[in-house]
Amino acid sequence: MKPTKNRVYCPDCGRTKMLFEEEKKALNFIKFNADSMTEECNGKVPTCAYFCMACAGWHLTSSDTAMACKSPTERILECHERQKAAATRNKINDVITRTHVKLSKTDEYIRNIDILADS
Ligand SMILES: [Zn+2]
Repeated sequence: MKPTKNRVYCPDCGRTKMLFEEEKKALNFIKFNADSMTEECNGKVPTCAYFCMACAGWHLTSSDTAMACKSPTERILECHERQKAAATRNKINDVITRTHVKLSKTDEYIRNIDILADS
């Protein structure tokens, strides 16, 4: 059976895909139709469903890895979040380094005052 219902053009994937309102419906569809619908996933048997932010619904995919079960938009957002977190870590490390330098100079200043006080 070639599925023809629920097909929409997905701007995220740049091609027509099946769209389900609920994950459960997408997974049920896989359960009962996967063997007959390999073309939905480029010749592979669909094995999992992922939420597509662009379509606000669920598509099917052949890969069951966590990353493949995310929409392209979701992957881009996660990548952006990781880059933001890395930039924040770099800023924090920079502040820590500059603080260590200032503390070291302050220690040296205090040692010099102690030397002057003792003399
Ligand atoms: Zn989509």
